[in-house]
Amino acid sequence: MEEMNDRPLTIIGGGIAGLSLGVGLRNAGVPVTIIEAATYPRHRVCGEFISGVSRDTLESLGVADLLDDAEVCRETAWHDASGPILRKTLPSPALGISRFRLDRRMVDRFRELGGELREGERYRENGPAPEGHLFATGRSRDAESPWLGLKGHLTDYPLGADLEMHLGDGGYIGLSRIEDGRVNACGLFRRRGDLHVQGSEALLAYLSACGLGKLSERLGRAGLDPESLTGVSAFQFGRQVKSEGGNVRLGDRFSIIGPFTGHGMSMAFQSAAIVLPLLRDYAKGGIGWDEVARQSDSLLSRSFRRRLGVSRLVHPFLTSDRGRRVMTILARRNWLPFSLLYRATR
Ligand SMILES: Cc1cc2nc3c(=O)[nH]c(=O)nc-3n(C[C@H](O)[C@H](O)[C@H](O)COP(=O)(O)OP(=O)(O)OC[C@H]3O[C@@H](n4cnc5c(N)ncnc54)[C@H](O)[C@@H]3O)c2cc1C
Repeated sequence: MEEMNDRPLTIIGGGIAGLSLGVGLRNAGVPVTIIEAATYPRHRVCGEFISGVSRDTLESLGVADLLDDAEVCRETAWHDASGPILRKTLPSPALGISRFRLDRRMVDRFRELGGELREGERYRENGPAPEGHLFATGRSRDAESPWLGLKGHLTDYPLGADLEMHLGDGGYIGLSRIEDGRVNACGLFRRRGDLHVQGSEALLAYLSACGLGKLSERLGRAGLDPESLTGVSAFQFGRQVKSEGGNVRLGDRFSIIGPFTGHGMSMAFQSAAIVLPLLRDYAKGGIGWDEVARQSDSLLSRSFRRRLGVSRLVHPFLTSDRGRRVMTILARRNWLPFSLLYRATR
């Protein structure tokens, strides 16, 4: 299936976007190398809740079957510090699977198909990348960012719905079903200078500081797996800073949607599926690299503009005290257009 004369491609970053694109390109016989700074398998800060990506998109990349045994999430329940505020059936079911498992499965598939993976190697960006190199490096660093993401897996937490959302002062956490009876606990918080804690203590301390002390106590008793604990800071939401001309970017490297939507991974898969035909064409000599960069930017911008806009509007409601109070009142009175917002961010 491999064409001797195909132009080779190098993907920098082996997360959802890079790995799924790598698999898609190998399925088309294109020679591909992925350069990944970390090693596999590993835990990552992520709610591990996949919603809004179609089976067709996953099939076009050749990764749909890797999600066949994922947990199916159908119901969500929202709470604030005083108790339940909303309970809904999701407009379309979501999938739950850990990144530890999913990334490793995609790595195995990529290698089985003859892809070259260089793990533990950081690509140094220095001006425009050479032709045929594309960036799937995830969140761009922004030291000014106020956000801190914390995640861990619970081994013994009785969920009240497939996805529980808990809203606090200056932060929120989602709890959702993943494999082997585990629950993903992933929160986004405004960073605080007064909390000098690490590991599981950090997640529990941030919850308490947000006014979610009772939940923090429950999580403390629910068996937080220390291996799964991860944290991340220094990132901003929305369209990411444009890199040097001629660069092709996808996934979070292109744009970041607010994590509460549970849609970042879907956008990473979708961006890989969108650029795949352009890259196949490039590999066969049909179009030049500048044309790939121009068309991919324009296609991704058009596909994601509406959801990023809606997410930008909703985000302050979850993360500012006043916004959250409004959201809570609307939710309690059943006035929150939940299904509309869910669809508009997809
Ligand atoms: C708190 C939080 C919760 C979230 N919850 C959810 C959720 O529930 N559902 C959802 O769909 N999305 C969620 N997301 C978003 C989701 O994690 C991302 O949108 C998704 O991982 C993006 O995939 P990606 O491939 O673009 O980047 P990543 O998965 O981040 O992969 C990028 C890869 O590039 C590598 N890399 C970076 N720089 C270099 C370099 N110079 N050289 C080589 N390799 C490099 C990194 O090591 C990494 O492996 C959440 C995000 C946060 C912060």
